[in-house]
Amino acid sequence: MSPIDPTDDALAPPAPADDRPLLEVSGLTKTFGTNRVLDGVDFEVRRGEVVALIGPSGSGKTTVLRSLNGLETPEAGTVAFADGPRVDFAAPVSKADRIALRDRSAMVFQHHNLFPHRTVLQNVTEGPVHAHGVPKAEAVARAEALLDRVGLSEKRDAYPFELSGGQQQRVGIVRALALQPALLLFDEPTSALDSELVGEVLLVLKELAEEGWTMVIVTHELAFAREVADEVLFFDNGIVLERGAPKELFSRPQHERTRRFIDRIL
Ligand code: ADP
Repeated sequence: MSPIDPTDDALAPPAPADDRPLLEVSGLTKTFGTNRVLDGVDFEVRRGEVVALIGPSGSGKTTVLRSLNGLETPEAGTVAFADGPRVDFAAPVSKADRIALRDRSAMVFQHHNLFPHRTVLQNVTEGPVHAHGVPKAEAVARAEALLDRVGLSEKRDAYPFELSGGQQQRVGIVRALALQPALLLFDEPTSALDSELVGEVLLVLKELAEEGWTMVIVTHELAFAREVADEVLFFDNGIVLERGAPKELFSRPQHERTRRFIDRIL
């Protein structure tokens, strides 16, 4: 089998099928016990767009991401991808819907969650080969090209413990890309890293944005959100209190709570 050309389409985000928003979320509501953590969250994500979710700890950002990926089940609201699935959480969620949701997006967690006893290459090819049935040789060629893209070719046979935290997180990102999802979800991808390693991971995210990947990112890196995001949603107590283009939202927040949050962090 011939090696995959690193400029091959397999490494690019999936091509747009039409110009409807890739994702429409409406009325998302989730309660843990008596704690209403999402209270009617609505937003859209267009193809190729980067949406940043910001706001205080506990405001519901991670729960939104987990709901998009089928890891959490809200009691009301809909999550609709342009080419399916469309899941209405007010009705019972079928296993097929949950699997379809999981397959539309790939999540990169705060901690990379790599398998410790598998090499970098094995970590990256595991999902495509075992979950998606991609032939091994093809998965390996694609993994190698992706590792090359993030400057980690020479680490393909290393184990996670032999890598720095930033390298581990870059492998986590490559693992998500290898699944060729329509949507990438990032849950505070740099918050577990030492400050000197944050930049290398943010640079990869910025490059993915420039290449046209569609991404939803929960982040406390407000300078990064201001530079890279197309839209910023400010969460407060389970609602989107304020939203807008980063230039507007960061320089002219409409709500006092948004302003205080931004002033404290930026
Ligand atoms: P954020 O990402 O903005 O920090 P989260 O979505 O992680 O917020 O959490 C929102 C609220 O939901 C918090 O009060 C958190 O304690 C609560 N929460 C999250 N997951 C669970 C769970 N599995 N069980 C109970 N409470 C939870």
